[in-house]
Amino acid sequence: MHLISADPCNGPCGKQVSPHDLLPIGPHVRICYDCYAWHLTAMAMLSGKAPPPGCQMCERSLDTLKREQFTDEPKMYLHPLEGLYAVLCFDCSQRYEQLVRERYKNTPYGCQRRLN
Ligand SMILES: [Zn+2]
Ligand SMILES: [Zn+2]
Repeated sequence: MHLISADPCNGPCGKQVSPHDLLPIGPHVRICYDCYAWHLTAMAMLSGKAPPPGCQMCERSLDTLKREQFTDEPKMYLHPLEGLYAVLCFDCSQRYEQLVRERYKNTPYGCQRRLN
């Protein structure tokens, strides 16, 4: 029998992936390639090149968010994570704040971000 080791992605997805598929982006943070791809999306959004296709966490498309929020420009939130960014809708933005607080409290990273 093979035990396959898996570590959690510290990005918004939080999924368990093989350590080989995690990118170290800081002393306490490793993220998966999907989250890294979203970081690139966030950078394009920041530089005004392209709107994000949707929310990274709930995976609702921009069109869905437009319909749900009755606006042509749904608010998207950029969350900094050790120099990287995550693109989240309003609901997920709040959910993620909570998640980060739980995940990092009593860690050096949490301390640094004053989450304790
Ligand atoms: Zn991830
Ligand atoms: Zn969302």
